[in-house]
Amino acid sequence: MAAGAMAARVPPDEDEDECLPQYRHLFSPDLLAGQVAFITGGGSGIGFRIAEIFMRHGCRTVIASRNLQRVSEASKKLVAATGQQCLPLSMDVRQPQTIVAAVDEALKEFKRIDILINGAAGNFLCPASALSFNAFKTVIDIDTMGTFNTSKVLFEKYFRDHGGVIVNITATLSYRGQALQVHAGAAKAAIDAMTRHLAVEWGPNNIRVNSLAPGPITGTEGFRRLGGKFAEKSDQFSMIPLQRAGNKTEIAHSTLYLASPISSYVTGTTLVVDGGSWLTSPNSFSALLGIASSSAKL
Ligand code: NAP
Repeated sequence: MAAGAMAARVPPDEDEDECLPQYRHLFSPDLLAGQVAFITGGGSGIGFRIAEIFMRHGCRTVIASRNLQRVSEASKKLVAATGQQCLPLSMDVRQPQTIVAAVDEALKEFKRIDILINGAAGNFLCPASALSFNAFKTVIDIDTMGTFNTSKVLFEKYFRDHGGVIVNITATLSYRGQALQVHAGAAKAAIDAMTRHLAVEWGPNNIRVNSLAPGPITGTEGFRRLGGKFAEKSDQFSMIPLQRAGNKTEIAHSTLYLASPISSYVTGTTLVVDGGSWLTSPNSFSALLGIASSSAKL
């Protein structure tokens, strides 16, 4: 397809954690009117854009992560851009008592929570042979345990009696055993399994549970840290069927679909939003080692 025609179909995005200067609604602007979303990791990257797009569709949000300053600054930007309410809260998904306190505060403020987005995660590139026991455990603790902890607290505090929607942000790493990613791939695969288990157990409570697995997404910490620039330079995006990386707005739109009544009969599934990337991208250990050795985080 001609580049111009393709570009016209891609919603614009901002590289930094800033709100979109302009936004054209593709969905009805009142799609989430009156609802409240609790978004872990909502102060940065993909989670920040999900909060913005939800707020642009009438939703109030709670954005929660460890760094209160980060979520507070993000909240100011989100409120200024959308005119909706956004409550920033500090919590650590590894510590259930901090989740309980945050959910209590959110319910005190908004009296309801309709949507949970489990976006908090940690990742870095590292070969299994060099990965410490503790590093593996830390990623499982944040991603997998954190998703379970937060889902369980929301279930007990609100969803069991009122229903709700959970969207877990996962990844495609385990589909082909991506090199240097045994920790994150294992953690996200466990979350995809959790999605199906919880969808089955909590369906009768009118709770839908789905995963969304992004591919390489520009303007994110994950992209910067996991070699996005390297891939851009080495022309690896030409290996992706859609010939490019995705952006945060595209992930937010797909999350909006899963969180909204448009997907009212969808539960227990994983929506892959990666331009077809995992089907065709190389899984080259030596190329990834090149990225790893240039990664400041290792
Ligand atoms: P990001 O900006 O680094 O987002 C991660 C967020 O998680 C941060 O806001 C961080 O905030 C929060 N967090 C980390 N540890 C936490 C903890 N213990 N408790 C509570 N919050 C915690 O990264 P991103 O790239 O946008 O990724 C967002 C999600 O998309 C992640 O689940 C990631 O795995 C997934 N994903 C991303 C890509 C990509 O290309 N970027 C691809 C596939 C999947 P604090 O530091 O303030 O806690």
